[in-house]
Amino acid sequence: ATPTAVMVATGKGASLGVLIKGGDALEKAHKVKTIVFDKTGTLTVGKPKVVSVMLFSSISMEDFCNVATAAEANSEHPIAKAVVEHGRKLGQSSGSNAQFFEGAKDFEVHAGAGVTAKVGDKMVLVGNKRLMQTYNIPVCYEVENYISENEQLARTCVLVAIDGKVAGALAVTDPVKPEAMRVISYLHSMGISSIMVTGDNWATAGAIAKEVGIEKVVAETDPLGKAERIKDLQMKGNKVAMVGDGINDSPALVAADVGIAIGAGTDVAIEAADVVLIKSNLEDVITAIDLSRKTISRIH
Ligand code: ADP
Ligand code: MG
Repeated sequence: ATPTAVMVATGKGASLGVLIKGGDALEKAHKVKTIVFDKTGTLTVGKPKVVSVMLFSSISMEDFCNVATAAEANSEHPIAKAVVEHGRKLGQSSGSNAQFFEGAKDFEVHAGAGVTAKVGDKMVLVGNKRLMQTYNIPVCYEVENYISENEQLARTCVLVAIDGKVAGALAVTDPVKPEAMRVISYLHSMGISSIMVTGDNWATAGAIAKEVGIEKVVAETDPLGKAERIKDLQMKGNKVAMVGDGINDSPALVAADVGIAIGAGTDVAIEAADVVLIKSNLEDVITAIDLSRKTISRIH
């Protein structure tokens, strides 16, 4: 496209809340045949809420939530925020747990797995089954059952181990964005296929994909794994776009022919992307492709 055409299109995009960083992205977007979507915060609202808590030991509900809250208090992860919010609410109603909130020491983040910390004199792990396996903590049949029941309902389970034993678990739910299904089906009608790539587990990912009509799922991937998937697709001769919001999406956003960041996402993702959806509305993925198609067809 000519510089003038690019200027007109990026100006139009900006007025619609679609920030396009330069002519290259604009030129490539109309050729995109596959769009890869991150799950949490991209297809879903990204504000998970605790909807169930189950204890697997003799600990009281209050102590359990206090310990989980203390361990997660320093984490930026949306799941951590859900756990902390739940703990705070419980604390407000009982008025007893304030001391725990600053109580964690040796806090460590395990990307794609959870967190570990010392709360008082207790070793605490909060995260998924992978985190438990890393620390050789047994996950018994009862816990497995709770996990699979919740995952089938598209919920993600957070296990809490205290001193080497799973003391309890929380289930969080993160609803899909209201426009997600409509956007996916419209993309399909444009001849563009959809794939979900997520760090979350297979069962939850599959349930969410089904809800929004996404055909293919890749779950339990780390940030570099997400980028590898993009490269695989490109090697088959596809032009690929990636839509994501997290720090963990940034390698994939860079690898993609067109990286698209959710405006409400992290600064790292926004910087890594070629296009930013200021309104955080998935419909603007279509707006961006439309702008590209119109600009290019005006030239040729
Ligand atoms: P996504 O690709 O969905 O954004 P992440 O790679 O951030 O996922 O995390 C993958 C999984 O790791 C989460 O679904 C969750 O099970 C677990 N996890 C990561 N961080 C935390 C945390 N702070 N607390 C509990 N679980 C966590
Ligand atoms: Mg995300």
